[in-house]
Amino acid sequence: AHQSAIEIINPANNEFVRRYQTMSQAQLHQVIDSVNDAFNGWRTFSLKQRGQCFKKASALLTAQSTELANLMTQEMGKVHKEALGEIKKCAWVCEYYADKAESFLADEEIESDLSESWVSYQPLGVVLSVMPWNFPFWQVFRFAAPTLMAGNVALLKHARQVTGCALAIEAIFEQAGFPKNVFKSLLISSDEVESVIKHKAVRAVTLTGSTNAGSKVASTAGKYIKKTVLELGGSDPYIILSDADIQLAAEKSCQSRMINAGQSCIAAKRFIVLEDVYDEFLQAFKAQMQNKVMGDPNHPESDFGPQANLDLRDILHQQVTSSIKAGAKCVLGGEIPAKAGAWYPATILSEVQSGMPAYNEELFGPVASVIKAKNIEHAIEIANDSEFGLGGAIFTQDIALAKKLAKEALDTGTVAINDFVKSDPRLPFGGVKTSGYGRELASFGIKEFVNIKTIGVA
Ligand code: NAP
Repeated sequence: AHQSAIEIINPANNEFVRRYQTMSQAQLHQVIDSVNDAFNGWRTFSLKQRGQCFKKASALLTAQSTELANLMTQEMGKVHKEALGEIKKCAWVCEYYADKAESFLADEEIESDLSESWVSYQPLGVVLSVMPWNFPFWQVFRFAAPTLMAGNVALLKHARQVTGCALAIEAIFEQAGFPKNVFKSLLISSDEVESVIKHKAVRAVTLTGSTNAGSKVASTAGKYIKKTVLELGGSDPYIILSDADIQLAAEKSCQSRMINAGQSCIAAKRFIVLEDVYDEFLQAFKAQMQNKVMGDPNHPESDFGPQANLDLRDILHQQVTSSIKAGAKCVLGGEIPAKAGAWYPATILSEVQSGMPAYNEELFGPVASVIKAKNIEHAIEIANDSEFGLGGAIFTQDIALAKKLAKEALDTGTVAINDFVKSDPRLPFGGVKTSGYGRELASFGIKEFVNIKTIGVA
């Protein structure tokens, strides 16, 4: 019934690239069983042996970075230089967990009434990952490196748009000498995900993607009592206080808003500016935003390429036009360019207020919402007036104040001071509210999909 094909369209020109056949039910079940069988072998590998496989995977990523980056550019329009950076980061996260997993997962003795008691971190088995198209390699490796290092095996249901990337990742694991079937891609539609979660071999599931998809997957997982980690949407507030270095704030804000043509969960999305520096910031920010070159993602001069596909571009434009209708001012961009492909220009909306999509919703593209705040308390109130709680930033010269606000006031999983939010293998990453729960990366990420087993001796 689900034997439909997946068609890849290049978003830069709307041209057909290639077609993949999806798996039949029988093939799907066979893959799940084979991955489950692979668990028996992989779990007996020492951490050193697993680490050697990941070192090899890291070397292969580096060696193949140009081809892998080209594939990303073709399937979802990421500019080539950013695509190369993404592959490099994947190589890093493989090395990081290859080196660190042993210390993160070492037994921990705990004193109790028993003569001996300790915690031992044991793998769970098959973990399903459902991943988005925006960072098609990074999202997968930041899950796979810790999860496989801990002795689990993995299934990947990637976004259909990046099916070529999904298969390339599977090939990296094979070529790196991982035992057969430790990591497999599932070419299925999202309505078949429930049948995978339900499968008794599948022990846990993680989803990176929209809040809507996360809610559906978590409901299904709840029904079958499977652990979940969710990395969902965001609408990160960047607060610009009166004493901020405005030039720095404008540069960092623009850099963050424009990463991946604006299609990043942790992109700066709402710029909350104190009224006495509002005009100055807006001017400096506009100067930065209008300098960004939109163009062929293969071209080295391009700062950003097209949106990932036409549907998403159209949703974004709809959010922009409804916000303008509701009173927002379009300071830059806001018009669909007259050329084939999913293009959208760098756009700034000012005078954004509650009730507008640009205030309440996530804008997943190169559109900045600038909001005026009366004072610091008001700025914090606006920042937290969101269903999301992924990241946020504060720009000020008063570092002590910024630290206090970061710790006590902002309701987000990450706060950056005088910088933009970025993920780093050494630092935990994740959100609160509808941005999800659980943490990836660092020691926290590797402990999400393990059995924290307590053992005691009388
Ligand atoms: P999406 O539409 O939610 O898709 C993500 C994945 O979920 C895809 O593999 C998709 O498969 C699958 N999916 C969608 N609906 C599903 C359902 N009902 N049941 C099971 N699986 C389902 O998200 P996207 O448009 O690709 O990505 C953009 C969103 O991801 C943004 O909201 C962004 O903020 C968020 N994001 C979050 C993080 C983070 O770390 N917090 C990182 C990156 C992106 P199909 O392709 O087959 O539909």
